Amino acid sequence: MTEETPFSHIVNGDISADIVYQDELVTAFRDINPQTPTHILLVPNKVIPTVNDVSADDESTMGRLIVVAQKLAQDEGIADDGYRLIINCGDHGNQEVYHLHMHLMGGRPLGPMLTRKQTD
Ligand code: AMP
Repeated sequence: MTEETPFSHIVNGDISADIVYQDELVTAFRDINPQTPTHILLVPNKVIPTVNDVSADDESTMGRLIVVAQKLAQDEGIADDGYRLIINCGDHGNQEVYHLHMHLMGGRPLGPMLTRKQTD
């Protein structure tokens, strides 16, 4: 049975999204609830639920995510000022969609990554 996630439906074209890049390994589309002027999600075309599920066979796909993120940052005009790439993993990482995805965020200063000091 083919695994299905909300993002695999976007990859397959079954649900609409603002796709900005697609090749044989990865797809990139704009986040439906952008937190920054540029907020793009990059996903492997095949379902890898979390970073914990990445295998050695996925090295080229994971590398492609970075290479495409770099290209999209240039296309968006945010490369020189800088940006943030985030992959949330699991419960403590606050991952909401269990189809591995990298957030490309930028277009304004993003501040420190964690907003409050951890006390425990
Ligand atoms: P995360 O918390 O890392 O799992 O991030 C999930 C992200 O997916 C959130 O930023 C959501 O706004 C985004 N998202 C959820 N559904 C869609 C969708 N159909 N199209 C685009 N972005 C989505």
